[in-house]
Amino acid sequence: RQPVAIIGAGIAGLATAARLAVAGHPVTVFEAGPTFGGKMHQFALPGGYRFDAGPSLFTLPQLVDDIFRLAHREPADYFRYERLDPITRYFFADGTRLTAWADAAKFAAEVEEKLGTPAADVTQFLARAGQVYDATAGTFLHKSLHKPGTYFSPETLKAVAALPQLGLLGTMHERHAKAFGRDPRLVQLFDRYATYNGSDPYQAPATLSMIPHLEHGIGAFYPEGGIYAIAASLHRLAEEFGAKFRYNEPVEEITVADKRVTGLRTVLDVYDFGRVVSNMDVVPTYRRLLPREPAPERTLSQPRSSSALIFYWGIAREFPELELHNIFFSEDYRREFDAIFQEKTVADDVTVYVNITSKKTPTDAPAGHENWFVMVNVPHDQGQDWAVLTQATRAAVLRKLHRGLGVDVEPLIVAEQTWTPPGIAADTSSFGGALYGSSSNNALAAFLRHPNFSGRLEGLYFCGGSVHPGGGIPLCLLSAKIVSSLINEE
Ligand code: FAD
Repeated sequence: RQPVAIIGAGIAGLATAARLAVAGHPVTVFEAGPTFGGKMHQFALPGGYRFDAGPSLFTLPQLVDDIFRLAHREPADYFRYERLDPITRYFFADGTRLTAWADAAKFAAEVEEKLGTPAADVTQFLARAGQVYDATAGTFLHKSLHKPGTYFSPETLKAVAALPQLGLLGTMHERHAKAFGRDPRLVQLFDRYATYNGSDPYQAPATLSMIPHLEHGIGAFYPEGGIYAIAASLHRLAEEFGAKFRYNEPVEEITVADKRVTGLRTVLDVYDFGRVVSNMDVVPTYRRLLPREPAPERTLSQPRSSSALIFYWGIAREFPELELHNIFFSEDYRREFDAIFQEKTVADDVTVYVNITSKKTPTDAPAGHENWFVMVNVPHDQGQDWAVLTQATRAAVLRKLHRGLGVDVEPLIVAEQTWTPPGIAADTSSFGGALYGSSSNNALAAFLRHPNFSGRLEGLYFCGGSVHPGGGIPLCLLSAKIVSSLINEE
């Protein structure tokens, strides 16, 4: 068991550290920031408000449990979570309100009652989403796509054979329009799942229509204490198995000799390591830490995913009509996505996501108040004037909430902080502040992400949202699983 260095303590770095430490590797994690979590950090605002800074929706919790089981520990001793029901409250631009219940049949009945689309259309669509997930996840998400073994397994052959019958040609939007064309509101509801990996439903392949299965088939969950609890539990496990964390120590160079990794140079020191795992975004890993090595330019130039503008608000009132997850839709969804992905700006009328953890963890806000995480999807940073866009988007958000709730929210804001794409880039080194690495806006995107290992430099590995299998908590956890297996198998 050789020592392993991990660059970055984001969720994928933490999961890799825990998995490798449990397997007996001496692990040191170098983190540029003052603590662990990366995008999954938490912070407080004056007045008694706690916020999860980044991710808010949690699916596939068993991927976290697996890591504790690997260590022969009881997952619930580290980390508890509940299945959400309802999952989301939707507010459409025409004033219609819809509740997404966890149970697919109950959700379908609600759709029939509120939108008029037959319940059977919804249950059939969700069942198909489950079939696509079952046919593809094992091959495309759980394994390296860059090892020949993946392609010759019986599971892969079965997956490939199943694809033609699953109606996966075309884009996500086309698939939804075909299924629910009579009701543009339902098309919009399902199109929104493209944003779960920062993509555009009008370009992303129909395969991504499987995403709602994660919520309605498997479940959406809320960790006790908020999303940050996921990072904290894995950090605790990694430390219990001997992983060392060095904070405020950015890595400046990955040292290399004879096509092998030899270690790291940080702002403080030089270290010898035969194995290095980068949890830093793959673009700056090459550009900043390996400036003399040839970079995989085609991979690094893949279009970025969207980013976000987030307003964290302490709200001096409670809103019983809101849940943990709430969506206020724009009137013209295509216009909104064209603004993001074609025009690289933010539309005047935007879809607003409001996440309120004090609904589940009352101590996250003072009594009678709520902590609102208010997010709008925006392009990644390409030098736009974010001061102007932030101000305009804040006004658009307030207009939308006023219309949806019938209440002027602005006077209720008693604490406020903002996170912008350049801020996300500066705080986590994510290229352009993209939330999910590269987007999935074409059918080949899955194959064009960087592998979990370097084909040129022995001893160099990659985990996290910018590499295979992609961004978001579950996929980051799977990247950690793949990297750990590659290292363990050596
Ligand atoms: P990051 O979290 O990006 O962490 C990388 C770490 O590496 C950072 O701590 C950074 O400081 C460190 N680092 C970088 N460079 C160096 C260096 N040179 N030396 C040392 N350390 C370095 N996902 C979901 O599943 N559900 C959601 O609801 C969701 N919503 C989101 C909302 C927002 C606002 C954001 C920002 C993200 C959201 N995501 C969501 C995406 C999810 O948060 C990310 O995919 C995931 O957290 C990324 O984890 P990571 O391990 O790749 O790295």
